[in-house]
Amino acid sequence: MHGHGKMVGVMPTTALPVLPAEAVTPPTDVTVGGPVEALGGQGRGRAAMPPQHLADLDLAGRRAWLADLGHKAYRADQISRHYFGRLVRDPAAMTDIPGADRDRLAAAVLPPLLTQVRERTCDGGATRKSLWRLHDGSLVESVLMGYPDRVTVCVSSQAGCGMGCPFCATGQGGLRRNLSTAEIVDQVVRAAEVAASGVLSSGHGGGAGGTVPSRLSHVVFMGMGEPLANYARVVAAVRRLIAPPPEGLGLSARHLTVSTVGLVPAIHRLAEENLPVTLALSLHAPDDDLRDELVPINERWKVAEVLEAAWDYAARSGRRVSIEYALIRDVNDQPWRADLLGRLLAGKLAHVNLIPLNPTPGSRWDASTKPVEREFVRRLRAAGVATTVRDTRGREIDGACGQLAASEPTRSSYSLAGQGPARGVGSVIDTGASVAQTRSLVQDPVGRTGRLVQSGWADSRGPGGKAKR
Ligand code: SF4
Repeated sequence: MHGHGKMVGVMPTTALPVLPAEAVTPPTDVTVGGPVEALGGQGRGRAAMPPQHLADLDLAGRRAWLADLGHKAYRADQISRHYFGRLVRDPAAMTDIPGADRDRLAAAVLPPLLTQVRERTCDGGATRKSLWRLHDGSLVESVLMGYPDRVTVCVSSQAGCGMGCPFCATGQGGLRRNLSTAEIVDQVVRAAEVAASGVLSSGHGGGAGGTVPSRLSHVVFMGMGEPLANYARVVAAVRRLIAPPPEGLGLSARHLTVSTVGLVPAIHRLAEENLPVTLALSLHAPDDDLRDELVPINERWKVAEVLEAAWDYAARSGRRVSIEYALIRDVNDQPWRADLLGRLLAGKLAHVNLIPLNPTPGSRWDASTKPVEREFVRRLRAAGVATTVRDTRGREIDGACGQLAASEPTRSSYSLAGQGPARGVGSVIDTGASVAQTRSLVQDPVGRTGRLVQSGWADSRGPGGKAKR
């Protein structure tokens, strides 16, 4: 592995925290099994899944569950309407349910899943990053972004990640565990609550104050974790998000983006689900020599195979695949790589989202220079490939691409919104984790295109603008 000359002396080739399949225990409630699920299994048996929540089940499952608990089955519809339709979790506000039942019912089916450890804002109030503690102490993050025409949340699908991409902050800690369906859904519901409260601004018009829709509309699975390694729960979460209330949140599937680092069997399987969500493929290199190093799972599924799977997805879904490419100085930003990428993508239903690597103090990875970035874009466009460069939305709060690595606030790293530059992931960086800290996330795929690369956030605003994973 790792035979590319350019990487020698740049990338540590040891300690890539990819959990071998045999070292992880597949989740017991996942019925699919197989090597992909094994990669996303609960790491080393240390992690416990949370209590069951109504969002783990479809409506029929909730009715049966409540009947088993001795409640009227239709209470499932009532409480689901509160949770998904009205964004209400406080039993006291559920006045259509008899007072004697409310608390007991809510305690049973709405156990608290996410405890907010901190929230930070930047971009004039348009970006809000939340750090959540899960029931077992695991930490995950989500990022909410407001725009004049939409509200997007980037959610985590795993606590940590087992894929081991060396430039990624999340990947450096390895996988702790998969999130449950409800833990994923609840990140979206909590974000929808914030959007509905009206505190988001669009960050336009000279900073704070731009108006933003009050309804959350877009979800990108580009936070912590490899979504397709937690396949069954991520797909269930997608179904919950697109089902109309009281079954789910009623979002448009076309406003959802699922990212992957390239788990080929899972991409094919996702194509068969007939969910018109956008697929974002974190490619980062057009050649196997380099991609083997940047994205270790490439040793299992090569570039050609991953792209074939992406085109299969595009053909079946009719959706343009977003190709995420973090531009790393002197690593993957050479003109010949732009040309090679252009040849691979020309004529395909694809769009390239270039993600300038975010600056991370102490990291050995650096962003490409602007002239190099411009030349990369020029060559791709010359090949007829739609290309955007992602925005740096969230950079101040480490919510940008490659910067997600949930850590508890420390004296040196924690600062509240409005109190100056915050460096959440900084605690990781400051302690000398010298390997890159990147996780990209980008944000919306279509249109203005923000996308996530597996861990950061970005926002692409089209040609001439900026773009993210
Ligand atoms: S880039 Fe994505 S897949 Fe790779 S280690 Fe980071 S979170 Fe995991």
